[in-house]
Amino acid sequence: MEHHTLLQIAEDFGSPVYVYNTDKIIEQYKRLTSAFNKVNHLKINYAAKALSNLSILKLFKSLGSGLDTVSIQEVQLGLKAGFDPKAIIYTPNGVSLKEIEKAAELGVQINIDNLSILEQFGSKYPKVPVCIRINPHVMAGGNTNISVGHIDSKFGISIHQIPHLLRIVKNTKMTINGIHMHTGSDILDIDVFLYASEILFDTASNFKNLEFIDFGSGFKVPYKTGDIETNIEELGSKLSKRFNDFCKTYGKDLVLAFEPGKFLVSEAGYFLTKVNVVKQTTSTVFAQVDSGFNHLIRPMLYGAQHQIINISNPNGRERFYSVVGYICETDTFANNRRINEIREDDVLCFKNAGAYCFTMASNYNSRFRPAEVLWHKGKAVLIRKREEFEDIIRNQIDIEL
Ligand SMILES: *Cc1c(COP(=O)(O)O)cnc(C)c1O
Repeated sequence: MEHHTLLQIAEDFGSPVYVYNTDKIIEQYKRLTSAFNKVNHLKINYAAKALSNLSILKLFKSLGSGLDTVSIQEVQLGLKAGFDPKAIIYTPNGVSLKEIEKAAELGVQINIDNLSILEQFGSKYPKVPVCIRINPHVMAGGNTNISVGHIDSKFGISIHQIPHLLRIVKNTKMTINGIHMHTGSDILDIDVFLYASEILFDTASNFKNLEFIDFGSGFKVPYKTGDIETNIEELGSKLSKRFNDFCKTYGKDLVLAFEPGKFLVSEAGYFLTKVNVVKQTTSTVFAQVDSGFNHLIRPMLYGAQHQIINISNPNGRERFYSVVGYICETDTFANNRRINEIREDDVLCFKNAGAYCFTMASNYNSRFRPAEVLWHKGKAVLIRKREEFEDIIRNQIDIEL
């Protein structure tokens, strides 16, 4: 997005504010679907937890996407956004049987990732088809260090437990209609991903009533210069071919499913903050913005490096800054970062702010969560109001003491 558009949004809607460009989301969606255009039945289920504003969910619905959800509340959000329950897959981890029953009642596709719940659910509802989440235990070292559902991970049913899984399916007479894996790791090495896929195909051949195979996500997008990104086109051509071959052997045209979050929305997002104070110390220059890890926690939680641009002074002399927030906690967004000269009241723009940014925001320090704005068809539209003091005290009970 252009600097002047973003500056205008910061002026009109105040700061801090999240901005999402729908054109970029649509571009990423199309890039993914065209990479897999050799597959007869492709289903993209957008992972709602990356960015769950209703307007974003509605945009995905309009593109023909399904929805990947991890909680009953995300299922409810999806239904509110107008998704058909059948277009929603529910992939929780460590939730109660009760919550899974509730999701089944709503008619969404259930995906179970442990044998205990599988046995209980299958015994009670043998007629409800269930997808199973497999942990393939693939590890690869070296430079492209990626671990795919490693052995210590809490996610998925171990491939070593397939015999027990098959016994449960036989005993309960339940139907397994999908096989799933979500590695959670960045796909840097396509061959490692393909190797994990082979394990999924192996597992799949044990089940006769499959409708789909879900390869999860892990598509990596660049955050800083020099970052490796997943070569979607290469993955598309290699996996599609292998998938089509598998369908021939299996004897049925299955659906190939993916559930990306970050790939679809990360680069569409911008986080705009205002500089409150420029503070020179003995060792650095701090630029303190009107935000903190209460609004954007990825740099502190994962060491994520979001590019920061001074859109108020893009041609200013470059200097080194530590960009920090205004909460009472160490909330360093960037250390020793080269940025065009920062003055108080300048607007700093954080890039890649679409995925896991607003959805991880909190009210720490009793601050309000930011507003969200959609940049859609050349217009800025408010899609979430900035919080107010009322929101901070809404559920508090003011007792006599
Ligand atoms: C979070 C999650 C995703 C999305 O992962 P990204 O890295 O954002 O693409 C997909 N599937 C499941 C089950 C998830 O928990």
